Amino acid sequence: MSALVRPASVTPEFLNRLVSRVPGSTGNTWKLTEVYTGEVLVELPQSTPSDIEGAFAAARAAQREWSQWSVAKRLGVFKKFHALVLKHNETIVDLIQAESGKARRMAFEETLDVPMVTGYYLKRAKKVLAPKKHAGPVPVVSSSLEVRQPKGVIGIIAPWNFPFATGISDAIPALIAGNAVVVKPDNKTALSPLYGVELLEKAGLPKGLFQVVCGEGPDVGPTLIDNANYVMFTGSTNTGRVIGERAGRNLIGACLELGGKNPMIVLPDANLDDTVKGALFGAFGNTGQICMHIERMYIHDSIYDEFKARFKAATEKLVVGAAYDFGPNTGSLISPEHKDRVAAHVADALEKGATVVTGGKERPDLGPAFFEPTILEGVTKEMLAGHTETFGPVVALHRYATVDEAIALANDTDYGLNASVWGGDLNNAIAVGRRIESGNVNINDILATAYASKGTPSGGVKQSGVGARHGDQGLLKYTDCQNVGILKKQVMQVPDDKPFEKNVEEQIKGLAIMRKLGIR
Ligand code: NAD
Repeated sequence: MSALVRPASVTPEFLNRLVSRVPGSTGNTWKLTEVYTGEVLVELPQSTPSDIEGAFAAARAAQREWSQWSVAKRLGVFKKFHALVLKHNETIVDLIQAESGKARRMAFEETLDVPMVTGYYLKRAKKVLAPKKHAGPVPVVSSSLEVRQPKGVIGIIAPWNFPFATGISDAIPALIAGNAVVVKPDNKTALSPLYGVELLEKAGLPKGLFQVVCGEGPDVGPTLIDNANYVMFTGSTNTGRVIGERAGRNLIGACLELGGKNPMIVLPDANLDDTVKGALFGAFGNTGQICMHIERMYIHDSIYDEFKARFKAATEKLVVGAAYDFGPNTGSLISPEHKDRVAAHVADALEKGATVVTGGKERPDLGPAFFEPTILEGVTKEMLAGHTETFGPVVALHRYATVDEAIALANDTDYGLNASVWGGDLNNAIAVGRRIESGNVNINDILATAYASKGTPSGGVKQSGVGARHGDQGLLKYTDCQNVGILKKQVMQVPDDKPFEKNVEEQIKGLAIMRKLGIR
């Protein structure tokens, strides 16, 4: 740890500039620390309810003008932003690593999500947001225009595990659609989203349009939801329920991207070289703190022993450590408290009869929140690690005999966020994947193929969420649909001198003819 050199970009001046945009009228601050060392990086202002109301008022004022910009003019900002995110990639990676303790490889991967989402909507938004003409009730003289109006100010609540991606990527379609945004990042990881907002303003986003407020969730959440026109939440299922309830009471929409307990099925004909490499990422990528990562692996009996031996050997070769370079495969957990939670899940499993294949211990020699990559066997649903999200580098191996059994085991959960299926016969693997109750399914991959396919909506089912991000849906959810009905000539009123019975006859006949001609 003593050899750890903090990146040159992470200076007190820079961090103080970033946090200076967070309103905090009482002067109360939160000590934002470098996870690897526990040292304080900066004092983060904490926003009061009146600070949050002020942020919404400023955002709403800026939105009035922004919503009048053409989509093409708005997209001009995002074109520049895309280039700036690539140009300043190193600084973004530095900030993500300092605030989250994740390995640099993963911090780099996280940064890519923002240009990918931006690039996708740069190509697609104009078409999706353009007014669409539909047929009216009476051919020729009537029509209807589907107009997409921005909702107003979108409240975004983001978690700590992908702070830059969830804090900024979800805001991009909201802004492109003509909204303002007020984001509440997690206190622990506010720096990279704050830098994202700075880069957006550098790219030409009007000042005030994108506000950042900070504080503990239960303190900030209610005021944020009560002032928002829509809420985009990413976090745990428990918190999602609280957010959804409040949004429901306010009769505003909410997109809830929640937790998972994601299964991986290895079919007998899987390529084991690829599968073992995939399993390493699935279980230990981002130190097991990816919502779509794998906590349960179901391996066919015929290859179980070979898979286990190879996966164990590969896991033991992983480089775990604190470094601001691309050396380590995995880094720290987010905090000592989270490390204690992961350790408690492992202890509970071992007490109830599970066994350790490898790992299982804390690594205080590496930093205050390190835990070894851990493989368990014999995990059952009675154990915490068997039914709730551990959200750490801990995975359980299970044998199965038939595909039906594997699918039943994979589906035996309240969650439905992601699943991974590995097999040589692609059609068979796809067929297995489609039987899993999960919003995302990856064939011969863990998560990136589905998540990085920005044209397809991605979200959870069951207790893993409501709604989705990406695709047309990921943009349209930030809009209200206005139905503008246009009648060129008034032909729908029944003339005073026409008996109503005649009108009934004509309407029935008209509908029958239009059906026959395929008009309606
Ligand atoms: P969390 O639910 O504790 O916190 C998420 C955010 O909500 C934080 O900003 C937090 O401050 C805030 N919050 C907490 N209580 C609140 C309240 N009462 N009102 C308003 N806001 C509140 O989750 P976490 O531990 O930060 O993140 C990890 C969880 O997020 C895991 O369950 C993970 O699976 C999930 N996650 C899901 C996705 C997805 O896309 N489905 C992506 C990333 C993370």
